[in-house]
Amino acid sequence: MSPPSRLYLSPPHMSGREQTLVSEVFASNWIAPIGPMVDAFEAGLAKTTGIDHVVALSSGTAALHLALRMIGIGPGDEVWGSTMTFIGGVAPILYMGATPVFLDVEEDGFLLDLDLLERALSDCPKPPRVVVTTDLYGHVIDGQRMRNLADRFGFLWISDAAEALGAYRDGAHAGTGAAFSILSFNGNKIITTSGGGALASENGEAIAQARFLATQAREPAAHYEHKTYGYNYRLSNVCAAIGVGQLEVLADRVAARRAIHKAYRARLEGLPGIGFVGEPDGMVANRWLTTIAIDADMAGFDRAAAQNALERENIESRPLWKPMHLQPLFQDAQAIGGDAAVKAFDRGLCLPSGSAMAEADIDRVCRILRELAG
Ligand SMILES: *Cc1c(COP(=O)(O)O)cnc(C)c1O
Repeated sequence: MSPPSRLYLSPPHMSGREQTLVSEVFASNWIAPIGPMVDAFEAGLAKTTGIDHVVALSSGTAALHLALRMIGIGPGDEVWGSTMTFIGGVAPILYMGATPVFLDVEEDGFLLDLDLLERALSDCPKPPRVVVTTDLYGHVIDGQRMRNLADRFGFLWISDAAEALGAYRDGAHAGTGAAFSILSFNGNKIITTSGGGALASENGEAIAQARFLATQAREPAAHYEHKTYGYNYRLSNVCAAIGVGQLEVLADRVAARRAIHKAYRARLEGLPGIGFVGEPDGMVANRWLTTIAIDADMAGFDRAAAQNALERENIESRPLWKPMHLQPLFQDAQAIGGDAAVKAFDRGLCLPSGSAMAEADIDRVCRILRELAG
């Protein structure tokens, strides 16, 4: 018997149209970091998010870097954000020589604890210039409350919505109302351009400046003229063509991920010690990855045992993002709050959630977890 094929966490899911669009790029010879597909992708992202101005970039990490560069933070400046995130949402703070400060997430949730944030802002003598929220696993932060806090304490709010394309809260797309929003189209995200990202803002001048900085800060002149330095961060027109095709099916991809989440719940919710993170009123998460929390005492097995059992059956799973303040890189960083993120990390496992998964794939995962439960 041949071994079962590998079930990945979140593999790319093409519609088929992308290849046609890439062929159009080849026919037009716009094999460049500018071109009609880049323009169309940016327009499509603006329409999808409802955020007026968007620049397509080579990665989500690049988008955050540009936002921080334009805000002009540097040594001595603090940037506050959730401890539970991916390094791409943090490393640009270090690129700028600024200091990250990590705050805990909500109990039984993935998002920055806004009560904790509000208390910490009230208590600190000098509020940070920037707060980054992270819409983890496609859950969306309360944008109205973030706007109010930003106005009251005078910081700029950056929304890291890299995992939250197609997710909404109170009728607004993830990232709405932030000074800057970050998107990612890395290979494992809900839609992909193989690699890519975008920066969105209601501030058209800022996005024009981001486009300028992402194109080596070339001044308009016949020769190459530079008053400042920039980066080579634009998205290829070839990759943008993939993005245009992927955006056409975004709503389907979100629906599929939400259905997968529901199917996991239906099969696993009865097991002792297995928990899911719910959606608060008004939130429509994209359920990029379905995660379970395993209470080892009740379940009779822990997160590592589950991951190993799945791996033996050629199924990829992953712990949640390891809290940044536990990373060796940030052993000296300031951490504010309790241990909700640490507990979530200890218990949490991301299950295969690719939008092309079949019912039989979900059954395959759940059978193994049920066997573990005995
Ligand atoms: C993927 C991701 C990023 C960075 O995106 P890249 O395109 O991979 O650079 C940033 N933050 C979070 C939370 C992410 O999941």
